[in-house]
Amino acid sequence: MGRKFFVGGNWKCNGTNDEVKKIVSTLNGVEVPSEDVVEIVVSPPFVFLPLVKSLLRSDFQTAAQNCWVRKGGAFTGEVSAEMLVNLGIPWVILGHSERRLLLNESNEFVGDKVTYALSRGLKVIACVGETLEQRESGSTMAVVSQQTKAIADQVSNWTNVVLAYEPVWAIGTGKVATPAQAQEVHSELRKCLQQNVGGEVAASTRIIYGGSVNGANCKELAAQPDIDGFLVGGASLKPEFVDIIKAAT
Ligand code: PEP
Repeated sequence: MGRKFFVGGNWKCNGTNDEVKKIVSTLNGVEVPSEDVVEIVVSPPFVFLPLVKSLLRSDFQTAAQNCWVRKGGAFTGEVSAEMLVNLGIPWVILGHSERRLLLNESNEFVGDKVTYALSRGLKVIACVGETLEQRESGSTMAVVSQQTKAIADQVSNWTNVVLAYEPVWAIGTGKVATPAQAQEVHSELRKCLQQNVGGEVAASTRIIYGGSVNGANCKELAAQPDIDGFLVGGASLKPEFVDIIKAAT
């Protein structure tokens, strides 16, 4: 089975009501490859999810940027997987490096979150990636394998998981991984899935790249055999997001 190209737009903690409406209206007017060719998901901050969902064209989907690790209750400030399901939000991004590093989310905690979100019926974009220090010390593969294994230890059905390789040194820095650097890690991640989950999951799971992807560098990255799409931050707020979607073809 071929892996359908996947493009996610992570809007992070950005936007006002009016700005969000403007971005959605731009997206609603663009021509993109059909749903058979590319799966497109945008991820606004929690507070804008209902607005975006209500205005967004039906061939684009929505994702939350996080959710709580278990059933809701006395967890002030958190948003539960059940709430997202209740709002009809199909996807959630988990394990983004900004949460791992700024909010100390451990590999195990991210693994627990992925497991719980999947159990509630959400689809998950699970992020892994090494810091610059880790890359320079030669531990890239050890780091991303451990992050992936913490999920694979609990999750055997990966149908609803997209794995996002996002080197921390490339996120929001303008320093994109070279196609060869990204391909090398993606291919190793596929091997990691093969060893820890199985050959079928390794072959069918989409592994997408994130980190300073833009309209100019997306084509070359998309041409790599193990790069199945992108998670896009900064450029997802700009018109060039459409060029990145078109890298699918
Ligand atoms: C991200 O935050 O997921 C990301 C990839 O950001 P950027 O594209 O801005 O590097």
